Amino acid sequence: MDSTQPKLRVAIVGGGIGGLTLAVALHKLCGSRFQVDIYEAAHTLTEIGAGIGVWPRVWEVMEALDLASDLSKISNDAGKEGQPAEFRKSDYTVKGGSTSEGPASSSVKLAGIRPFHRAQFQAILAAHLPSNPSYTTHFRKRLASYEASSIDQTAIDLTFTDGSQVVCDLLIGCDGIKSVVRATLYRPLAHPADPAWSGSVAYRSLIPRDVLEKIDPEHPSLTKAVVACGHNKHIIAFPIAQATLINIVCFVSQPEQEGTKYDGAWVREASKQELLDAYAGWEPTMIELLNCAEKVTLWAINTIPPLPTYVGERVALIGDAAHAMTPHQGSGAGQAIEDGFVLASLLADPRTNRQTLPRVLQIYDAIRRPFSQDIMQRSRNSGRLYEFGLSPTESEGDVVGMTGHSAADDIARRSAALQRMLSWAVETSVMDDRDRALQALDRVTEELA
Ligand SMILES: Cc1cc2nc3c(=O)[nH]c(=O)nc-3n(C[C@H](O)[C@H](O)[C@H](O)COP(=O)(O)OP(=O)(O)OC[C@H]3O[C@@H](n4cnc5c(N)ncnc54)[C@H](O)[C@@H]3O)c2cc1C
Repeated sequence: MDSTQPKLRVAIVGGGIGGLTLAVALHKLCGSRFQVDIYEAAHTLTEIGAGIGVWPRVWEVMEALDLASDLSKISNDAGKEGQPAEFRKSDYTVKGGSTSEGPASSSVKLAGIRPFHRAQFQAILAAHLPSNPSYTTHFRKRLASYEASSIDQTAIDLTFTDGSQVVCDLLIGCDGIKSVVRATLYRPLAHPADPAWSGSVAYRSLIPRDVLEKIDPEHPSLTKAVVACGHNKHIIAFPIAQATLINIVCFVSQPEQEGTKYDGAWVREASKQELLDAYAGWEPTMIELLNCAEKVTLWAINTIPPLPTYVGERVALIGDAAHAMTPHQGSGAGQAIEDGFVLASLLADPRTNRQTLPRVLQIYDAIRRPFSQDIMQRSRNSGRLYEFGLSPTESEGDVVGMTGHSAADDIARRSAALQRMLSWAVETSVMDDRDRALQALDRVTEELA
């Protein structure tokens, strides 16, 4: 950026994991070259008390941004060995009947996933925000809309729900699944961009380790990730916060409802009894875990359709605003982090300026949209595989029911298929994507020269 030009004014709308990572990445990669303002609707930075898993690609970003050593202190990282995991068939029923099948399980290693407590993860991101005048966080600032400035066509006017207005040169919507930035960007376009229900809800809770240990000191979720599969239901349980808490997420699905509007609050409190009722008939190992859940919340899992673009001339979407997906590959936040890193890397390049900005945003879109939309699809399919709606052969036609000769055979094939569907998380590098983005910038600057 030409030092004689006024600083580019970057407005980040939304201070969730995506917005914070972007701000930290801009600080670490660009220093004070930009004027960065974060506008957050809440009165403070908040994250829910729940777990989050991040894959090696995301960890590459954490290392590049110098966050890894702080994050390592709050993780129960299994290192390169991989996180031990156990896949179980837990509903004990087989297709077409209530025949008891007995427990079936398959032990594997999930290479490289690092589990965190969300609030702790976010606190570390926030601690890496700079305290200098080039970066300001504004709370209680809910964006209402934006439009091209009538005075300067390369600027954007933002209007907040309190009536206040500001001007920026680049608007980045990190405002989650209900994104106002996305809604405004898509208003003139015919393509659908509104959220819809995935057909699933998830009961979430954190269980103190000592509570579970008293009941069952050998419970598998004390030491490893447990993936308990059943027809149209599955439970994910894994230790977080240096194994002091067990994070549980319990899905209940009505696949035929996918794409409809969820009738009710997207997040609400639920009773333990409601959770137990949902899993009536499941194997005792999982029921004893659910019995330890005291504070339970119910989340409707909503998604957005694949979008034809994540960018406008001087507007970009990242994270759930761009690709809110089901959580079945544990990747929504990870993809938000990757978006933020690739976008910040492009903005940090000295060839990015007011003139090249629209082309730079197109490069971000070309690199990040196909990748993140592939993860959306894999995530949906993983959910169906967990819940016996899809066979391990990944054939959409081969639905519901056992695929092997026994429950044990089926669950082993299912867990192998799930790991294959996750191979991208371990075998590919976000740094390669960043490099491809910068190479595309070479071509743009040659064209404009
Ligand atoms: C059950 C479940 C389990 C999950 N597990 C994982 C996992 O293990 N790993 C993983 O990577 N992902 C996981 N995810 C997905 C992950 O939670 C999301 O993808 C991630 O939080 C998205 O981050 P974001 O910053 O894009 O959006 P958000 O976290 O939604 O943040 C948006 C921010 O914008 C603010 N905001 C909204 N509107 C406005 C406005 N108009 N003006 C100003 N501010 C605004 C909000 O207050 C909020 O702070 C899971 C999700 C669920 C539901």
